[in-house]
Amino acid sequence: MGERGLDLWISRVSGCLREVQQAIASAAQRAGRDPAEVTVVAVTKSFPAEVVRAAVAAGLSHIGENRVQEARDKRSQLGDLQGVTWHLVGHLQKNKAGTALLLFDIIHSVDSLELAQILARRADAAGRVVPVLLEVNVGGEATKFGFRLDDLSSLYRAVEAILSLPQLRLEGLMTVAPICRDPEEVRPVFRQLRQLRDGLRERYPEAPWRHLSMGMTDDYPVAVEEGATLVRLGRALFGQRPS
Ligand SMILES: *Cc1c(COP(=O)(O)O)cnc(C)c1O
Repeated sequence: MGERGLDLWISRVSGCLREVQQAIASAAQRAGRDPAEVTVVAVTKSFPAEVVRAAVAAGLSHIGENRVQEARDKRSQLGDLQGVTWHLVGHLQKNKAGTALLLFDIIHSVDSLELAQILARRADAAGRVVPVLLEVNVGGEATKFGFRLDDLSSLYRAVEAILSLPQLRLEGLMTVAPICRDPEEVRPVFRQLRQLRDGLRERYPEAPWRHLSMGMTDDYPVAVEEGATLVRLGRALFGQRPS
């Protein structure tokens, strides 16, 4: 991508970001929330490293990737890029936990106690404390990762174990909602994640529980109405992903 290509991306993403910020502000207002509580995580998966550069130039400082290898390739091309918080939003295989810690500042997708324990060991070796979110499969879909609402006892066990791991800081919950034509159909999913968080906050007040990572391009205004603090946006900012 030449300099002109980069400039085009910067203006395109800037325009999209303005629209996204307006939609977030309206949704927050409808819910009586402060829009400053909502952070946009720009999901750059499938786009080249230069698009990450354009996103940062357009004012986005939280970048999300769903694959360790892809993030590693991009970051190796972006060595001089400063001031970015990197979010892992996709499933993490246990054998990539160590590499993930070198690349990401926060992990949204902790979906088992075993993964949490491996991350804690790796974080210990790296001398780091890692912010993590627990992924919850609210819809109970067979194809999705995450703790399930119909087995809260394993979620509670995981929370208790993670709270005893000083290398992990449990900051909240994340969900990937089912794909629906009408975003209103997924409102109950977002609401259930918030209610689960509220319950966990009462049960385990020692954790901050500050984040609800929920909402993507097709449904983020509804997620903001339901309490999202991290919305993960790809197409709303960058258009259709290249295949
Ligand atoms: C791809 C992806 C997103 C962004 O999806 P859009 O619909 O393009 O906004 C968000 N979260 C996760 C986990 C993803 O894999």
